[in-house]
Amino acid sequence: MWGDLRPGDLVVTPFTYSDGTCVLCRAGWPSNCLHGGGYGNHGMDGGQGEAVRVPFADATLVKVPGTRHSDATLRSILALSDVACTGHHAAVSGGVGPGMTVAVVGDGAVGLSAVLAAQRLGAARIIALSRNPARQAVAREFGATDIVAARGDEAIEAVRDMTDGLGVEAALECVGTGDSMATAFAIARSGSVVGAVGAPHGVEVPIDTVIFRNVGLRGGVAPARKYIPELLPDVLAGRINPGRVFDFEADLEQISDAYAAMDERRAIKSLVRVAAS
Ligand SMILES: [Zn+2]
Repeated sequence: MWGDLRPGDLVVTPFTYSDGTCVLCRAGWPSNCLHGGGYGNHGMDGGQGEAVRVPFADATLVKVPGTRHSDATLRSILALSDVACTGHHAAVSGGVGPGMTVAVVGDGAVGLSAVLAAQRLGAARIIALSRNPARQAVAREFGATDIVAARGDEAIEAVRDMTDGLGVEAALECVGTGDSMATAFAIARSGSVVGAVGAPHGVEVPIDTVIFRNVGLRGGVAPARKYIPELLPDVLAGRINPGRVFDFEADLEQISDAYAAMDERRAIKSLVRVAAS
């Protein structure tokens, strides 16, 4: 079931490596592979360099068909390595489907990718919570039908007003703070599921909302190795352009500036070119 890679192939790697054979990989959870891990962790080399060591390369890498892809297509293929799949996981975890009303909390690269994923999965109305004009523009391009620029209680009230007081059918939490999780649960309709992919810091799950309003919680580290083959055909056909999140470029010598730009919110997401081509 895994690829037959050859020297010279164009490949994309998920942000985690996996063996493709353990019980969790076979169950569709390669990001929880029993023998897997992430680049730059646990003594493993990082993923940004002129050469990268890929554990279980046959299972981890996904071969990209075709040649002479445009720069825009290559940027979108790169987005599949992480943020596009993580946004997709938020939408899948929240149970997004055709005709639904969805809200996305967070306007970083993952939040914007979640907007794109919700649109791809057929959501009819997508409310993006963002106060940044550049990010609002990408959200609109990705399919957001409404923008809420307020935060906290004001944002909650606005989303409830837009949904007849009911809240949304899927709230996608793409930040990972206590405030963003609280907002996601507050705007989630009874019976819905919060799809959460933000790395949590200082988050408490409001168990009263879970129990008394029947709002569930799903999400986690995206099984990107499973999603890349699903999303790649749409990228290659130009139906989705997740690479639009890259709005800052650096080469390997300037990589610290690429990170600083994201940290200082000068960039949504940085792209690093590692070799002359
Ligand atoms: Zn595995």
